[in-house]
Amino acid sequence: MVRQRTDGNPDALLGGIEAGGTKFICLIGRAPDDIVAEIRIPTRKPDETIADAIAFFKAEREVHGPLARLGIASFGPLDLAVTSPTYGHITTTTKPGWAQTDMVGSIGSALGVPVAFDTDVNGAVLAERRWGAARNVKDFVYVTVGTGIGGGVMIADALVHGALHPEIGHMFVPHDRAKDPFPGLCPFHRDCLEGLASGPAVAARLDGSARDAPADHPVWGLVAEYLALMCLNLTMTLSPERIILGGGLMQQDHLFPMIRRRFTQRLNNYIRISAVREGLDEYIVPAGLGSRSGAYGALALASQAIDGGLST
Ligand code: ADP
Ligand code: ZN
Repeated sequence: MVRQRTDGNPDALLGGIEAGGTKFICLIGRAPDDIVAEIRIPTRKPDETIADAIAFFKAEREVHGPLARLGIASFGPLDLAVTSPTYGHITTTTKPGWAQTDMVGSIGSALGVPVAFDTDVNGAVLAERRWGAARNVKDFVYVTVGTGIGGGVMIADALVHGALHPEIGHMFVPHDRAKDPFPGLCPFHRDCLEGLASGPAVAARLDGSARDAPADHPVWGLVAEYLALMCLNLTMTLSPERIILGGGLMQQDHLFPMIRRRFTQRLNNYIRISAVREGLDEYIVPAGLGSRSGAYGALALASQAIDGGLST
């Protein structure tokens, strides 16, 4: 097996937790092709789920030895300000029971290991940059379209944090109620992007799961329209070289040409860079790591932190 180098010490054993709304994926390894242990834990109450994750790492420590660092890539919003008394917490989440959960404190102290903490999508940005669809790209956006919609931004090879972290899923997009009478389901904003185009928003229009909607169902036209508007807004505000779309809904491959077509129509030749002129196949792209972006993202976070990177 070829061991892929990480930025830090390539031999350091790293841990990762992708903390998601439906599952926690915990893994131990050095890189995607060098994973030595992994477990998938259904997300229940915080204390139960976190206890299971801690038990996994403690048991594996007996086999593989201690971790150099643990990366936690979590659903949010998160407190990432290291000087804040609630640093390392999940804050105002819409996920019942999880608001104000101390992730870094509870897991880090139980395991006695340094923790690198960031959003699940910021982790995915690092993983896509290192191993996925952005290997040669230093300015890009990664967006996951699943139970929620979330995005991470890399500019000049650095993750954007700013005052908090980007909340791309909650951007506002034009909502034509004549075409789409669905009121939206974001508990904070109702018809923000996530309220209109996430998996649960699709499911609510169908009275079934998004997974079961046939490719020619009109709901996909609406989703493609909203995601094209998102891509336009990201293009106009951030000037990325690539926009990577991952998450459960993007497994509907037919969405990509639909989004690209709508993007081109709305852009109306305003921006004439080559990536946008040449059919968008290299501009709006699927995640290179597929459904593994988040899990590998947690490892990438741990690895970057060892290297003295941004998330320490
Ligand atoms: P999460 O966002 O919970 O971490 P996912 O990215 O897998 O996980 O998103 C889950 C959402 O995506 C659910 O709403 C689910 O119905 C939807 N989904 C999963 N797979 C598909 C698929 N193949 N086609 C359409 N929707 C899907
Ligand atoms: Zn919202």
